Amino acid sequence: MAIVSDDNKNINKPLKRNPVVKPDSIEYDKTFENSIRPKDFDSYIGQSSLKETLKITLEAAKRRNKPLDHLLFYGPPGLGKTTIAGVIAAQMGVDIKITSAPALERPRDIIGILMSLKGGEILFIDEIHRLNKVAEEILYPAMEDFTLDMTTGKSQTAKTLRIPIPKFTLIGATTKAGELSGPLRDRFGMIHRLEFYTVDELAQVVMRTARILEIDITENGAKAIAMRSRGTPRIANRLVKRVSDFALVKYNGIIDETVANESLDILKIDKYGLDTTDRALLNLIIEKYDGGPVGIETIAAALSEDVRTIEDVCEPYLLQAGFLQRTPRGRKVSPEGYRHLGVKQPSCQTSLFDM
Ligand code: ADP
Repeated sequence: MAIVSDDNKNINKPLKRNPVVKPDSIEYDKTFENSIRPKDFDSYIGQSSLKETLKITLEAAKRRNKPLDHLLFYGPPGLGKTTIAGVIAAQMGVDIKITSAPALERPRDIIGILMSLKGGEILFIDEIHRLNKVAEEILYPAMEDFTLDMTTGKSQTAKTLRIPIPKFTLIGATTKAGELSGPLRDRFGMIHRLEFYTVDELAQVVMRTARILEIDITENGAKAIAMRSRGTPRIANRLVKRVSDFALVKYNGIIDETVANESLDILKIDKYGLDTTDRALLNLIIEKYDGGPVGIETIAAALSEDVRTIEDVCEPYLLQAGFLQRTPRGRKVSPEGYRHLGVKQPSCQTSLFDM
């Protein structure tokens, strides 16, 4: 069973499991991410309404000497759901165990992790919408009454034992709040959507990361990277690293606006942050399906991509930027999408059924 568990001290340290990691591997990304993850509210940039609410909720829990309510964070990947969970644990002075729903396949996986929790600890479950029914059923009494209901014996002699477990806080994260079952959603005391970041906020993320990694960057250089980061800190951080390679090898080592823009052009990331996959997606709908609407499975198959990658990674930003529209009959490229790609939109393309 692959439960990735960390305490809140380790969340900011590289993973120890595999000291030799390949660049571009998931492991490498995690090591890099953990090294630059903000640890407190001050270094957690943006999401101001979330931070304000959390500060009050945390203070109230501390004054009452009670564990925090269960919290659910949702929004596209890379917006800071795991990071804010770590910040909360650090603020509360408690440990955090991190896992994800696909690692909780068998009942004993979730039972094991629940029984290992200590009082007040935080359990973070990523991709919580992928939790199976059995795991969900085990979670309900654990979340509500801090008990595990275990059945022993068979049919008529079966008995349910209620085993108390320490009070804990569950923090769930999901890219798809809509796929969470009603009963599970109802058991969270607070549900919050993380928003895409503004260019100014992302420029602060870039400056902070550059400071930690000792990369020379000007404010305009940071802004140029921020503009192409799709509103997402994880992408901003990756781009700073990529651009710093260019700055080192091709330029004088300092990232200014020109170095940032030229490097990102070479990396084929356009001025709205769209990469080759995003543009291929829009072009496919325009060229093969007259601008849409077309179903997500068809798009994924034509691009040889996973439906989940398209839905979770590409689509949210294309929708938010207004290049793509979701209709009951599938996805459509918007007039802005046509304009961005420099393709003329055929007239009389919108039918009443697509609205
Ligand atoms: P998610 O769990 O939503 O997929 P993460 O919390 O793993 O996203 O964040 C991805 C990366 O982005 C982290 O390495 C973190 O350093 C950075 N990051 C996320 N949110 C912020 C923020 N508000 N301020 C600064 N950096 C952030």
